[in-house]
Amino acid sequence: MRSPVREIFVSVQGEGPYAGYRQIFVRFPKCNLECLYCDTPKEWDMSNKCMIQITPGVNEFKEFDNPLSNDQVLEIIKYYNKIHSVSLTGGEPLLYARFIKELKYSRYPLYLESNMTLPEGAKEIKDIIKYVAGDFKLKTHCDFKGQYEKVFNDTARSFSILRKSSFRDCFCKMIITKDDEKENMLHALDQIKGCLSTLILQPVTPAEKISEPVPVKKVMEFQEAAMDVIEDVRVIPQTHKMWGCL
Ligand code: SF4
Repeated sequence: MRSPVREIFVSVQGEGPYAGYRQIFVRFPKCNLECLYCDTPKEWDMSNKCMIQITPGVNEFKEFDNPLSNDQVLEIIKYYNKIHSVSLTGGEPLLYARFIKELKYSRYPLYLESNMTLPEGAKEIKDIIKYVAGDFKLKTHCDFKGQYEKVFNDTARSFSILRKSSFRDCFCKMIITKDDEKENMLHALDQIKGCLSTLILQPVTPAEKISEPVPVKKVMEFQEAAMDVIEDVRVIPQTHKMWGCL
């Protein structure tokens, strides 16, 4: 089986409770959403090469033709050592759930970074994912084209499929912008509270389409309210952007 892959590199996880761990990142292209704060370039087609990092921490890459086979991906990632886990990221990796399942990779645990809006993909790989870093998008994050209720329900379903268990950790990362309302955050949290170990509130990193940061007071109020629903609620911004890490 083959899949397009945007890049493969080693870096340090910059978000959530596993921030600081050394990971292999397998970044898939394309996403089914268009969040206002997205920092992944949208344009991509099969003529784009897959960029493979040669030395961790150094911006030197080898180019591979897309799409890559399972064997090519396995061959590439076996050269990286002392790794906590393999982050499947994007774009949206659940668009490639079948390919991920067919990888049959077992050396390091798999860590899924997903927008959680594709429950069928979640079902496909639920038995092989050890860490789930799942987003819950609030209604101001994207133009959902009148489909937010479906996105909301699909997200809740994906969390239920990939919920924490004796085998798997599952946490939710909610980005908070200045336009978000506490009630919307609590409504989302209510659907998934039994699936999570931790809720991460991530203050939005200002980007092209969202230039204003969220006030600290607002984030603290969100945290206080969320702690009535789930015990472990942490505020963690994107740490990799602080030190120029990939
Ligand atoms: S879900 Fe992630 S990759 Fe997709 S548009 Fe939103 S921020 Fe970008």
